Parts: sequence; C-alpha cells; structure tokens
Amino acid sequence: MAGSMIFKVCCICNRVEHNGSWLYSNYLAEGAVASHGYCPQCFQKAMTEIEIFLAQNHEGSRVQSNHHGCAECV
Ligand SMILES: [Zn+2]
Repeated sequence: MAGSMIFKVCCICNRVEHNGSWLYSNYLAEGAVASHGYCPQCFQKAMTEIEIFLAQNHEGSRVQSNHHGCAECV
C-alpha cells in the first residue's frame, strides 16, 4: 500500500470516499493526497443549482440560439 493515495473529498459536505462510499470522516492515510470534488449527492445538488441558474439567466438568449422552426416558433 505504498505510494501516493488519492482520496476524494467532497468540497461541500467534506465527506471522504472510501471504497465507493462517502463517509463523514477526518481520516486520511499518511501521505494521502486529498482531491477535492463533489460527492454524488452534492454533485446532483450543484448540477440542479446550475440548471436553475442557467434557466434563469439564459431564458432570453435561448429563444434566439435554439430557433429550430417548430410549430410554436413559426
Ligand atoms: Zn458532498
């Protein structure tokens, strides 16, 4: 088990991934490298927030860029 181990740490809830599960833990092996990212739950939440943000901010431009000539557009 030598070498640099990379632990994924959620930057939102600070859970650490251990063998595929995300646990509330302060444990990091000696020499471990923490790689900050999102756990699946926080990733989903972040994506939802991004989608809401984009929907709110691009409502006007979407009409122009996505003009595909459907029945409602024509
Ligand atoms: Zn998280």
